[in-house]
Amino acid sequence: MVLDKCTHCGNNIPLSAERCPHCALPGIFPNVRAAEQVEEQEALNKRYQESLQRAASSSCEQVAKDFETALLDSQAVIARSLLDASRLVSSDKQLYATFYQLVEAGVRLPSGSKWDPLREVADSALFPGYKKQVHFAALSLDGWGLSNYGDCFLVLRNQMIGHRASVFEENSVIFMEKHKIPMSQAHNLPAGYRATWGERAKLCLAKLVYKLHLNTREDAFARILLKEGKTSEEDSFVEVHIWGPMTARTIERVIVNKPKRRADRVILKSLYEKLLKVGVALNTRAEVA
Ligand SMILES: [Zn+2]
Repeated sequence: MVLDKCTHCGNNIPLSAERCPHCALPGIFPNVRAAEQVEEQEALNKRYQESLQRAASSSCEQVAKDFETALLDSQAVIARSLLDASRLVSSDKQLYATFYQLVEAGVRLPSGSKWDPLREVADSALFPGYKKQVHFAALSLDGWGLSNYGDCFLVLRNQMIGHRASVFEENSVIFMEKHKIPMSQAHNLPAGYRATWGERAKLCLAKLVYKLHLNTREDAFARILLKEGKTSEEDSFVEVHIWGPMTARTIERVIVNKPKRRADRVILKSLYEKLLKVGVALNTRAEVA
């Protein structure tokens, strides 16, 4: 497939376009196309081959293979407050707005932390011209998400997002900071740190092979992939970028941290009833641990 040519009219499509600007062919997901670029794929493959060599030299090829196999079933998880989740699932029509859509609508203020300007730069660099359309999630093997963003984990259906999702090495803001990428170079991010949904296992192995050992058991894989920190800056995870809208139908199941406050238990009960109507299961974290 020639990435930059429209399959309908044959003209070139700019990398950041969400549909062909010439014939309006839709269904072009710019975050996925970015991950499909040859230089991205070559750089990722190089990291992947190095991770296989590393696994071989530490005699944990089988563990690495098992880790990759487990990752084929990994899912994207969005963490939100109980109240946000409850609002989202209240009807089929409720679209789940992205951060920038909420800010633009005047519904939400940027949080005012030192990360805000960095977040803007990172998002504009990663998603030139389409950051408003991108949802963020964490890649998970067991449905657990990042509690720093909310007590309610929305586990998305792979079938509803695989075609429009890409994965990124880590929290994109932390990535910019760690790689010391100056604003002037933000348009030119190092290659090999993003992958299509279908290649997410490769990226995860390349990133995490150093955490695998001969005696690493399969039940340890989930926390190797995603580990919550005391603050969101200390969270360790692979970030999922999902282009476009979602509704309750995008969700497969919901997991919540056991609520401590009475008010939260009331919201949880109403969330449970709403989810029942759309056929989405809800578990508390204690039940799945
Ligand atoms: Zn076209």
